[in-house]
Amino acid sequence: MHVVVIGAGVVGMTSAWALAREGHRVTVVDAAPEPAAGASHGNGAQLSYSYVAPLAGPSIWRDLPGLLFSKDAPVRFRPTLDPFQYRWGMKFLANCNTEAARRTTEALLRLAFLSRDTVKAAEDVGGLDFDWRESGKLVVYSKEESFAAARAQVELQAGLGCRQTVFDRSQCLTHEPALHTIANRIVGGIFTADDAAADPVKLCRGLQRLLASGNGAVDFRFGTRVERLKRAGNRLTGIDTSAGPIEGDAYVLAGGYESRILARSVGVDLPIYPIKGYSLTVDVADDKAAPDASVTDYANKIVYARLGAQLRIAGMADIVGPARDLAKDRVAQLARQARATFPGAADWTGDLRAWTGMRPATPSGRPIIGASGIANLALNVGHGPLGFTLAFGSAVALAAHLAGHAAPLPMEDFSLARA
Ligand SMILES: Cc1cc2nc3c(=O)[nH]c(=O)nc-3n(C[C@H](O)[C@H](O)[C@H](O)COP(=O)(O)OP(=O)(O)OC[C@H]3O[C@@H](n4cnc5c(N)ncnc54)[C@H](O)[C@@H]3O)c2cc1C
Repeated sequence: MHVVVIGAGVVGMTSAWALAREGHRVTVVDAAPEPAAGASHGNGAQLSYSYVAPLAGPSIWRDLPGLLFSKDAPVRFRPTLDPFQYRWGMKFLANCNTEAARRTTEALLRLAFLSRDTVKAAEDVGGLDFDWRESGKLVVYSKEESFAAARAQVELQAGLGCRQTVFDRSQCLTHEPALHTIANRIVGGIFTADDAAADPVKLCRGLQRLLASGNGAVDFRFGTRVERLKRAGNRLTGIDTSAGPIEGDAYVLAGGYESRILARSVGVDLPIYPIKGYSLTVDVADDKAAPDASVTDYANKIVYARLGAQLRIAGMADIVGPARDLAKDRVAQLARQARATFPGAADWTGDLRAWTGMRPATPSGRPIIGASGIANLALNVGHGPLGFTLAFGSAVALAAHLAGHAAPLPMEDFSLARA
């Protein structure tokens, strides 16, 4: 079968890999000149297989006033005139309860573990150099209340196959001495040994090289914008692109937050809102002053990950519409907080390589994988803050769906209706 994949971010590239592995002929189309040019480019680099609890959780009700009225809150909401923002927001709030969050966490953990197992078992991927680093993830807390909630989550997840350890303050510092500057505001932490970090751009470029040279090589069409999906009855007949029409037997939509626009043109309503985030990437100046494990500063909702000789810092969740500008105040806030946490790790007055990207977020926090309602159009969209973590599992599930094989996990968990 000839499958056309729209989008060459981590989700599209891993989809192409899984489809080629099944023996399909694959064409990947992306508007950008190279892979991983969208949200995948400068993300937090974390493969946080055991930290998948959705943003839509019961604690939102407690945090909401701060989120709405504090200028420096890690989550920023600015109402726009777009009715979709309102509709998405209402569905998001409807998911903010204990039961929905628990069910979503369970579904996401299954998908995350499938991702972890897939990437570890894949010899061809294992041969790629993408700064894979399995030094675990330490989440540190500054408030007793959030630390208590995290401990309860550890207990819940222990029954779901997660191996996590609760650390007191001194254990956090023994494990990660670079945290000494903020020692007095750490009340405890949760450590997960088998979480990892890696470079998403290097992964996508590596996959491109691998797939372009393999048997039945994948055809990459970069610099090619998909302008329209063409539908006749309950099938897609082709796509119109800036470089002319392309036809396949089946199509996979993996276009990140912009998937919504393309899907809408053929009557598919995707509840995907762009949640804007920021990152910095700095050269590590002093190895001992930078974290070795991936670190999440829960109070500030900032993640830190080592990528080779660099430190990636990411955070902010701005619900402000698809604004691609680098807001100066948000970049400065991220830099200020990173410097206060790891002052000796980098030259904070140098080039911080600031970046912004849009998380393609569904209201529930679950991606949409598989059926679109159109017979030969499959979806692999809406991975929100976890697309890098969930990409390989989603790709394997998508390939099973397209081949009509039994899926490796319950696909209804990732249906359009559950998003
Ligand atoms: C600040 C930040 C930090 C993050 N940190 C992490 C993290 O630590 N761990 C984690 O797991 N996830 C993280 N994420 C989330 C993760 O980056 C995303 O979920 C993931 O990148 C989504 O991948 P994607 O392939 O679906 O979308 P994208 O990477 O956005 O790719 C979509 C592609 O589709 C192309 N496209 C769109 N429309 C068209 C069209 N009409 N024609 C042709 N091409 C088109 C775009 O050019 C783009 O290349 C973070 C995100 C952000 C913003």
